[in-house]
Amino acid sequence: MGWYEQKKDRAPVPPEKAIWAVCPKCKSHFGKKAWKDAGGICPKCNYHSRISARERIAITADEGTFEEICAGVGYSDHLKFHDASGAYKDKVEAAKAKTGEGESVTVGRCKIGGHAAMLGVMDFAFMGGSLGTGTGERIARACEEAVAKRLPLVIFSASGGARMHEGILSLMQMAKTSAAIAALKKAGLPFISVLTDPTTGGVSASYAMLGDINISEPRALVGFAGRRVIESTIRQKLPDDFQSAEYTEKHGFIDRIVERGEMKAFIARMLDFWGF
Ligand SMILES: [Zn+2]
Repeated sequence: MGWYEQKKDRAPVPPEKAIWAVCPKCKSHFGKKAWKDAGGICPKCNYHSRISARERIAITADEGTFEEICAGVGYSDHLKFHDASGAYKDKVEAAKAKTGEGESVTVGRCKIGGHAAMLGVMDFAFMGGSLGTGTGERIARACEEAVAKRLPLVIFSASGGARMHEGILSLMQMAKTSAAIAALKKAGLPFISVLTDPTTGGVSASYAMLGDINISEPRALVGFAGRRVIESTIRQKLPDDFQSAEYTEKHGFIDRIVERGEMKAFIARMLDFWGF
């Protein structure tokens, strides 16, 4: 069919059927395989795209060493919450089917460059990486397991914040995870926090900023409330690079920005330095 015969209102191609990956930043097109082989990093502008928890585990843990713990820990729908677009439990089930994960964070033991560690990885595709009761419980158990086995903890965060569908109990996870991290530190164990795009809200306001070292990927969005909310509250225009990892590093909240391709080696070097 010639292009002039095609209907203008035809349905867009769903992303899973598209043969091209489009860089969200510079809009360049690449073959999907080339994009995946590059680790989701744009070969043209170096944009670090969001990747799944399993993709992150594959590039962080030594091959075949990741052993997941508490995979059965999941959400709690104590409010039987519904909003205009449907029931909370249906949304969680859809997120599970979409990502293949049971919660917004996946935790387990592994080796990183030969060093034994506890690893937690959040998946933004699971309900915006939101912090629910299941997420908080998994983070807390990762801390407890790290203390029991004398392991350092590494968490890759990616989150829009607390999961409002679980009401006040989701906010409680901020205190719960912070307490679990404090117990880890009291036991003399280090915590490496990696903030990936985006790390905001209740996650940046709790465990993600509590690392002995806080690292970020280039140009990741790191902040608490969004730009529009802040601008409308303080009635001022914010700088263009506001809440970028680079801006956050400049103002002392991030210790180091590390490229994705060098992240594993950097973490292994830190663990080596600390004697693990
Ligand atoms: Zn790009």
